[in-house]
Amino acid sequence: MSKSVVTFHYTLHNRNGQLLDNSTGGEPIAFLEGSGQIIDGLEAALLGAVAGAKLKVEVAAARAYGERDATLVRKVKRSMLPVDELKLGDMFQTGQDRHAPVVTVTAIDGDDVTLDANHPLAGVDLVFDTEIVGVREATADEMAHGHVHGPGGHHHH
Ligand code: ZN
Repeated sequence: MSKSVVTFHYTLHNRNGQLLDNSTGGEPIAFLEGSGQIIDGLEAALLGAVAGAKLKVEVAAARAYGERDATLVRKVKRSMLPVDELKLGDMFQTGQDRHAPVVTVTAIDGDDVTLDANHPLAGVDLVFDTEIVGVREATADEMAHGHVHGPGGHHHH
């Protein structure tokens, strides 16, 4: 079964029209169908599109980065944190492992620091304005590796 490689540019807003992210000005994003490189809701909308198409794609939080989970928010003592300076919005990893959860400092009250391990986009409905740059069939190598090679993908060969 052949799979598609779709290359696209995007601008991402939340439902209030606030700009969250965009790829314009850089390399476009490329993904291999079914590889989980981009969020499900967006991939489903882009598959089958043709080069040059401009698609507005709305993805509800549940199909993007998930709903917020209140159990991932906890308070710790500032003295427990291995950092000297601390301010609202700081993000750091909770362990040595590069897959360790990333937490965001969401409140500082004296010695009490609130850490939120939710993804920054959890609970946010996403609105993508996309432009399809190209669509092609994946190569055998890409199918075997499970990712895209070349522009917008991996450059490890
Ligand atoms: Zn590869």
